[in-house]
Order: sequence, then C-alpha cells, then structure tokens
Amino acid sequence: MQPTIFHKIIAGEIPADIVYDTDEVLGFKDIHPQAPTHILFIAKLEKDFVSSIIDITDQTAHVPTKLIQAAKDFASEKGITGYQLKFHCGKDGGQEVFFLHLHFLSQQSL
Ligand code: 5GP
Repeated sequence: MQPTIFHKIIAGEIPADIVYDTDEVLGFKDIHPQAPTHILFIAKLEKDFVSSIIDITDQTAHVPTKLIQAAKDFASEKGITGYQLKFHCGKDGGQEVFFLHLHFLSQQSL
C-alpha cells in the first residue's frame, strides 16, 4: 500500500498544524476548513491503522472510539461546547484520504 498524506504527517515528512497529540491520536487542522474549527483526528499507531470505516474488523473496531474520545477531550480542553463529528465512509461517501480520520467541525473558533 502507498503511504497516504496522513502517514506522511505522522512521520513529520509534511507539515501540519497540530492541535492535539497523545501517544495514540493526532489531531490537526484540515487544510481546507469547512467550519471555523475543522480538525482531523487520526490514530498514530501502526497496529491501529485502518483505511476506512468500511474496512473495520474485530481487530480495529476500537479505533473509531479512540478518535471520538480524543475529539471529546479536545473540545473540553478548548472550551468548545458544540460540534459535529463525521466519518466519510468510502469513495461514494465522499472519502478522499484512505487513512481513517474523524472530522471535527465547530462553528466556535479556537
Ligand atoms: P475525506 O474527504 O477523505 O473524509 O477528508 C480528507 C480531508 O483531508 C479533506 O477535508 C482535506 O481538506 C484534508 N486534507 C487533504 N490533504 C491534506 C493535507 O495535506 N493537510 C491537511 N491538514 N489536510 C488535508
């Protein structure tokens, strides 16, 4: 499999505006924001790699929950009280980058 743009962000090979970083999850600003705050959350560990919700297995079923928990913690840290969480699932669902990511969108600014 070819590394995706998000693999390169984790590896530090391309820059990103990182706003959340733990051992397991990275959150960074979307390059084309669709809301005043638009963050993408991804799992950093190789064992947690999954390309899409469509490809989730028993081994990776915990990953979406990790991303949702990260988004919730981020919102709480930043005092954001309302937001939308979205997964684009598959090409026909609008997914362009095949590295599972959670969109965090809020009308509230950071
Ligand atoms: P998808 O449509 O796959 O769910 O969303 C992919 C998202 O990644 C898009 O919202 C797009 O703007 C964002 N994106 C694509 N390339 C880059 C990049 O190089 N850096 C950042 N920060 N976001 C990117």
